[in-house]
Amino acid sequence: MRILVTGGAGFIGSHLVEKLLSTGHDVSILDDFNDFYDPQIKQANIKAVAGEIAIHRVDLRDSAAVNMLFHREKFDAVAHLAARAGVRPSIRQPQLYYDTNVSGTLHLLEAARQTGIERFVFASSSSVYGSVKTVPFSEDFHLTQTISPYAATKIAGEFLCSTYSHLYRMRVVALRFFTVYGARQRPDLAIHQFTKRIHDGEPIDQFGDGTTRRDYTYIDDTIQGVMAALAYEGPLFDLFNLGESETIQLKDLIAGIEKAVGRKAKINQLPEQPGDMPVTCADISKARKLLGYNPTTPLSAGLPKFVDWFLNKPAA
Ligand code: NAD
Repeated sequence: MRILVTGGAGFIGSHLVEKLLSTGHDVSILDDFNDFYDPQIKQANIKAVAGEIAIHRVDLRDSAAVNMLFHREKFDAVAHLAARAGVRPSIRQPQLYYDTNVSGTLHLLEAARQTGIERFVFASSSSVYGSVKTVPFSEDFHLTQTISPYAATKIAGEFLCSTYSHLYRMRVVALRFFTVYGARQRPDLAIHQFTKRIHDGEPIDQFGDGTTRRDYTYIDDTIQGVMAALAYEGPLFDLFNLGESETIQLKDLIAGIEKAVGRKAKINQLPEQPGDMPVTCADISKARKLLGYNPTTPLSAGLPKFVDWFLNKPAA
């Protein structure tokens, strides 16, 4: 297939690009290389494959530019991963998150509809579950409240996807990713930040008493789910959790990083942050059954791999 990966220079996007290339697809990326984190890191993420892909430096918020690209390039499929990510910064810049994640998604769906795109996969997030405390989280839950602008933009994106699928008979799959980690993980995410700071002997900020729990997903498992979603033949619109279905307390995560890095953390305990979820845990039975999703890397195996990458990564 001729596939466009939006956000293809980012953490998850760059892994997807590599996987798609290795399975024989014709890959283009759309990315604006913004400075949410150092754009040099994004350039480095795709350095190894830059000669094999078409790179379109386009801002999703620019509907005319998105439209022009789609009419010119005639893609078969879109994996829409570009977004402003992160809960806390979305509280500071809700408009930016809305424009990128909601309007940007709409611009893509519109261009996809106009140019007859066959398949569209949307990166949603576990954050749509808000403060639900019943675990594991099932796709069947009736969700009525999100607790951050980021999460609200992601659930809005899902609804735009299902609407376009319904109106225009587009094949769309939305995937709720649960905290993804691995080589090239975004530098703002906890595993990456903690590893860097513990390694450098600097204190880490721990929000809350360390009992919040997260379902951490190793990047290869996420990518396996995305690849399956791109080949999905089920209902025209569908929605799946992609997690590891294992929850780890924050204090155990820190202990795991200490062990992998070989240093003790200096902990700066701070109050819980507004917008943060107390727990995430994916029910992945639907993805297992219908996508053949089969995560194989628990945190105990993935964390040392991440730390190994961190210690040996090339300079950006
Ligand atoms: P990332 O920030 O590394 O990648 C996103 C990419 O999108 C970046 O390269 C960025 O430059 C690009 N982008 C942002 N705004 C853009 C715009 N206006 N126009 C064009 N490109 C733009 O993030 P990631 O961690 O790889 O996340 C990928 C997707 O998965 C996002 O949609 C995110 O919300 C979702 N997600 C990620 C996680 C996770 O744990 N990493 C969890 C849940 C959901």
